[in-house]
Amino acid sequence: MLTRRRFLSSSAIASLSWKHALAQTPADLPAPSISSRARELHKRAFVFDAHVHALDREFYHGGSMGDLHHNGQWDLPRAREGGEDAFFLSIYVPEEYYPSRFETRQALRRMDHALRQLQENRTLVEPAFNAADIDRIHTKGKIAAVLDIEGSYDLDGDLGILRDLHGMGLRSAQLSAHNWNQNYADSCCSTPRSEGLSAHGRELIREMNRLNMVINVSHSGDNTISQVLDLSDHPVIATHHGLRDINNIPRNMPDDLMKKLVDKGGIFCFQIGSEFNYLREYQWLTAQRGKTFFDTTSIPDRVKGKSLYEVDALVAPQFPMPGATVPDSVAMAIDDWVAVVDRAIQIVGEDHVGLGTDFDGGPTLARGMRDVRDLPMVTDAMLRRGYSEERIRKFWGGNLLRVFRQIAS
Ligand SMILES: [Zn+2]
Repeated sequence: MLTRRRFLSSSAIASLSWKHALAQTPADLPAPSISSRARELHKRAFVFDAHVHALDREFYHGGSMGDLHHNGQWDLPRAREGGEDAFFLSIYVPEEYYPSRFETRQALRRMDHALRQLQENRTLVEPAFNAADIDRIHTKGKIAAVLDIEGSYDLDGDLGILRDLHGMGLRSAQLSAHNWNQNYADSCCSTPRSEGLSAHGRELIREMNRLNMVINVSHSGDNTISQVLDLSDHPVIATHHGLRDINNIPRNMPDDLMKKLVDKGGIFCFQIGSEFNYLREYQWLTAQRGKTFFDTTSIPDRVKGKSLYEVDALVAPQFPMPGATVPDSVAMAIDDWVAVVDRAIQIVGEDHVGLGTDFDGGPTLARGMRDVRDLPMVTDAMLRRGYSEERIRKFWGGNLLRVFRQIAS
């Protein structure tokens, strides 16, 4: 029988993606200089990252999340060094699994893999099923992981499967099928089909409310987000996002929707990459590759007729997904990134913003930032901007933990 691992090792990976052609090995770059004031403040802060591709490397290539790696942007040892205390662990089911309707199998395989990895690394990390778990895990000096599905668990949104996944420990779900529509909810980046949520989509929202699951609107279409905010009994979270006013792409959120999300008590978490938050770099990269980063139109042809294991082999070389290397002349500085967060704070206040890095999901980081170890660069930039310790601590985790406590207590 052809197992996934045997298939992966036997298949020749002839050509790597453009991302890999341009990939840097930032782990080997020198450490940035960061003020001791920022480092100390950062150490005191509770850092809760709303979006990490923590296990794509291990699912496709083996190994343990507890190992220190020299590729990618995130592993547990480096997350500790960067001061992370809790994170949303992305159960990532990309579009390649949808045309042959492999999404439910893939969601189950990724849940199984994540739970086994968490068990194997239990001296460092534990799954958190509610906010009290996060408090308890943090007191023990470990990192807390909240399981969040990125992509579809079932394009039809079967409520029984949702309850099964909740029973296994899933506590958060994106409404869209990553950048594609579900059959019940429109995404940011496909031609709308349901004008937001269908009748079944509305049922699914009610069931997620009943289960106290986080409704994650990152990758959702504007109509979907607006309708969810009208319907949900609980606050809603955008786990990794940017502002459309900064970069006018459908994957980013317009100000009026961000305000609506905040009025509902939710939180807007910023993706750490430049393609969401820095126009010059987004335009340069889009020109290089001849398409936007959210253009997935070539996928159906590429996966046609492939088995589940062949799809694994096709997507494996992407992971861990680093950001592209860009020339210094177009690269974002960390102060540019903090200026985008600052713009949101001016609109919605300091109580409703947070961080969802997207580490190992492809963010191109600010100049000089190697990986998760260098999160204190953000603290330093916030101090340069004159932020109080209280504001910085809210941004790092105070806000997200408060909202998570409201939803999943
Ligand atoms: Zn994403």
